[in-house]
Amino acid sequence: MDNLYSASKIKEIINNNGFNFKKKFGQNFLIDKNILDKIINATEADGDSVVLEIGPGIGTLAVELAKRGATVYAIEIDSTLIPILEKNFELYPNIKLIHGDALKVDYKEILAPYIGEKKIKVAANLPYYITTPLIFKILETDLPWESITLMMQLEVAQRICAKPGGKDYGSLTVAVNYYGKPTLITKVPSQAFFPSPKVDSAVLNIKLNTEKIFVKDQQLFFKIIKTAFNQRRKTLLNNLLNLGKLNKEELNNLLKSINIDGSRRAESLTIEEFALLTNAIYNILG
Ligand code: SAM
Repeated sequence: MDNLYSASKIKEIINNNGFNFKKKFGQNFLIDKNILDKIINATEADGDSVVLEIGPGIGTLAVELAKRGATVYAIEIDSTLIPILEKNFELYPNIKLIHGDALKVDYKEILAPYIGEKKIKVAANLPYYITTPLIFKILETDLPWESITLMMQLEVAQRICAKPGGKDYGSLTVAVNYYGKPTLITKVPSQAFFPSPKVDSAVLNIKLNTEKIFVKDQQLFFKIIKTAFNQRRKTLLNNLLNLGKLNKEELNNLLKSINIDGSRRAESLTIEEFALLTNAIYNILG
């Protein structure tokens, strides 16, 4: 099998198959070997790994992962890519192709048989129009993910890696950091793709926490984060009133009891403080 990551190879495959790029599916295929290597290295995929790939395109990532011995489940939505992928995967029995919508496929059903058998990972050059819902779907699926390596818009990667206090720090930052440790592997210029997207990109690796920070009610934790960041210019106290659970005086007393000043803004709170806040509210609501 020839390498799939050169622009000329992609053009050849596309011309031979009468394929048309579909903007609605966020189709920007990777053509930069150096970036491909960085993604594959970040996954640390080997024969003991099973990797879920979202959006294989013409199979560039999947084939490299398979060459490392990993078992790969590749989910592709575009039916016109399926015959191309079947052909490109012919030599790799360890790649399983699934024709479907990655937002709807049940990851647990596919990967549960590998629990305790293989390290379970995700690798994807994401379709950018559904970056956030896909990240949440992966993180919220109850599987022992070991790592998640994703190409995404640079701006989203920066929000995920942001530290408290800045404009990038928000509910996405807190939510992802609750599940794991994100590291920005590399920035990626738009020329690394064919066709080139309008935005810069980045590769992000998330190593999942083996022990999460303690919250008494995970659903309440996420609700509090969302509410606290709802109107960023408002104080924490005023945003939390929208929870509709406690009045101003009750909230003020609660915040005082955990040493959090209600006049602060959500962007200044650490994840530990959000956990503290959740547990205090949980204790009162019972
Ligand atoms: N992995 C390939 C690469 O790196 O060259 C292609 C990446 S391209 C940015 C995104 C891929 O995701 C496309 O193949 C697109 O058809 C596919 N895709 C878009 N929406 C999808 C969805 N909801 N479920 C599964 N695949 C999807």
